[in-house]
Amino acid sequence: MIGQTQKPIEEVLGFLDGKEKVVLVGCGGCATVFHTGGEPEVKEMADILTKRGKNVLAAVVVPFGEFTCYAPWSKERLKPYRQQIEDCDAILMLSCGDGLQVVRELILEGEYSLVKPIYPTTNPIGHMGGGPSLFREKCQQCGECLLGQYAGICPMTQCAKGLLNGPCGGAKNGKCEQEPEHDCAWVLIYERLKKLGELDKIKEFVPPKDYSKMKRPRSLEVTPLVL
Ligand code: SF4
Ligand code: SF4
Repeated sequence: MIGQTQKPIEEVLGFLDGKEKVVLVGCGGCATVFHTGGEPEVKEMADILTKRGKNVLAAVVVPFGEFTCYAPWSKERLKPYRQQIEDCDAILMLSCGDGLQVVRELILEGEYSLVKPIYPTTNPIGHMGGGPSLFREKCQQCGECLLGQYAGICPMTQCAKGLLNGPCGGAKNGKCEQEPEHDCAWVLIYERLKKLGELDKIKEFVPPKDYSKMKRPRSLEVTPLVL
């Protein structure tokens, strides 16, 4: 999921300086889980904007389980609000940056041929897993997964130095020398390999990663889902 926090309301209001008519778009995916763009947050934002003198033409929430970053879903859910989108002065996206840019590129500019200001209300902070309350970054999507080598613990992400061949030797009492509040990833890898009876793997040299696989922006082509 894309972890995200809400922007301060004054920053959001700053985007709307000189703009009166607004459309809000929330997301039924990560933004709902992180309480930045589900139904309650969209309603709250609509109330705040109305009190601040804005005219909220529509407050749309892509339903729970659907994501604004998946263009077929957001196209379908925004379809009934096309007129409001054409009439508004600005769109506020209560979603991550993926959702905003998919709506901007594939729906506004692509399908509607519309150049319209569109602004974020969240600060996305990256892919993370866990829940229901605590989420942690687990994977940097390096394009060449080595979890099979490391007993299911990613040193690129969990080790402060991102060591592929560890440990660095600085751990104290199982804690990282750079970030003492965190467990040393390499102690965790060692302990787990030991339990799995795969300790030999820790002696295998892992060559440097092919960072060209992390070159941005990345893209993928797949067979479209039949919905
Ligand atoms: S090695 Fe780590 S960063 Fe790379 S794909 Fe696997 S979990 Fe993600
Ligand atoms: S102490 Fe462990 S987690 Fe911290 S930098 Fe060294 S090897 Fe990585």
